[in-house]
Amino acid sequence: MTLRLFNTLTGQFDPLEPADGIALRMYACGPTVYDYGHIGNFRTFLQIDVLRRFLLLSGMQIRHVMNITDVDDKIIRNSIEAGIPIGEYTAGYVKAFFEDMEALGIERPEQIVRATEHIPQMVKLVEKLAASGAAYRTDDGSWYFRLKAFPEYGKLSKKDLSGMEDGARVDVDEYEKDSARDFALWKAPKPGETSWDTAIGRGRPGWHIECSTMAMEYLGESLDLHAGGEDLMFPHHENEIAQSETATQKTFARHWMHVRFLLVDGRKMSKSEGNFYTPRDLLLKGYKASAIRLALIAVPYRRQFNFTFDSLTDATNAIDRLRTFHSRLSSGRFATGENSAMQEAAKKAQEDFMAALNDDLNTADALAPVFDLVRAGNTAIDQGQFFTGDRDAILQVLEDFDAVFDVIKDRDAEVTKRALKWATETGRMAEVAVELVAAQTLTDEAIEALVVERSAAKKARDFARADRIRNELQEKGVVIEDSKDSVRWKRK
Ligand code: AMP
Ligand code: ZN
Repeated sequence: MTLRLFNTLTGQFDPLEPADGIALRMYACGPTVYDYGHIGNFRTFLQIDVLRRFLLLSGMQIRHVMNITDVDDKIIRNSIEAGIPIGEYTAGYVKAFFEDMEALGIERPEQIVRATEHIPQMVKLVEKLAASGAAYRTDDGSWYFRLKAFPEYGKLSKKDLSGMEDGARVDVDEYEKDSARDFALWKAPKPGETSWDTAIGRGRPGWHIECSTMAMEYLGESLDLHAGGEDLMFPHHENEIAQSETATQKTFARHWMHVRFLLVDGRKMSKSEGNFYTPRDLLLKGYKASAIRLALIAVPYRRQFNFTFDSLTDATNAIDRLRTFHSRLSSGRFATGENSAMQEAAKKAQEDFMAALNDDLNTADALAPVFDLVRAGNTAIDQGQFFTGDRDAILQVLEDFDAVFDVIKDRDAEVTKRALKWATETGRMAEVAVELVAAQTLTDEAIEALVVERSAAKKARDFARADRIRNELQEKGVVIEDSKDSVRWKRK
């Protein structure tokens, strides 16, 4: 069975297969590193991770490239505000992005590439477009793509662009449909902006040319799959298609996958709306990394997901059930043999799991048979109808499940510990202390961090705050004992 994945370009569920019969060449738009990523961003990266892991589980080879947009309008704006070079500005967010990926169990693509390291290739692509008349230079030294050069413009987003003004231009990276116009390939620098000296003049690349260039550099002129969040469909991906196909006269990507948005209270979670949470925010509220991962992947990628804290609680409970069952199997003692009903149930769960994911990555339908199996397994064990052969068969199902979902293996304490360390180092503990105490489970790591925070408050002579932390801990049954040269704590 092959995966049938919805293809935005054809509007159909097309089989996803490598054109060369060997390895699937996929490109996914990565983060713009102007800030910490929020869980909306990570919903997209996690769903792409589900795709990646499922293809690998299905035995497919893949070459997955992800870019890091480390130069764009927002980065330039923020680095100027901060008064530091863009490389210095983005470094911390690149590091944070990798940490968050690891925290959420997102596998590293085969290749991660950075825009600022591919400027010469971008310049070449602009030159190629200019040579064919599809790119033109304006008086200020910027270069634009001439939309008229690409009559198929709009074929991905299916927007009706007939009212488009010929020759009108737009120079910002992100814009709405109404301004579908000739877009900037290369921007002449404004005073104070980062720029490169190149054969097409001094300036910096537009966002769209970055992705076209890096995708073709590493995966060739025709990709099997291109993926990103739904907001990228227009103008970003539409522009990538226009630039690439005009330059090569080949189909840029045969298959396009777009992950629908994570919403909060019915609105898109975004930095500009100010209604966002980062994975770190949630870890510091006491939620486990595995629960964040499961909540963000349990709703299939083509459905909008309205984020709630209840969804994290549900995910936490679901993971507890899986882990408890898994350890019951691993540590339990069973008589040798098999229960044919159990064997049948394991086989069916495995088939239904794979079938659901093959059906446009339906993660919700893939979870259901696994939980049915947990229920059946627990019942059989309780009734003494469970044998070693059943254990082995079910552990195999759980292993395949975890190859994609990756929530049974428990790395939660380690991830939370790192988040607490980060909060302490960056002076954020003050903000999160109260919430941490209020969290459902006050872990040892959280207590340690709070004790350190209390000592810091005392040292700063903020005794009110120090007392508040101690009292809050006490209410949760944790007693702090001060001695002359140490502070210890214990649970009552
Ligand atoms: P950015 O860092 O803004 O370039 O975004 C990184 C990825 O996150 C892109 O694929 C976006 O489409 C995606 N994205 C942004 N906001 C959301 C959201 N609320 N829900 C899901 N994906 C999003
Ligand atoms: Zn991109």
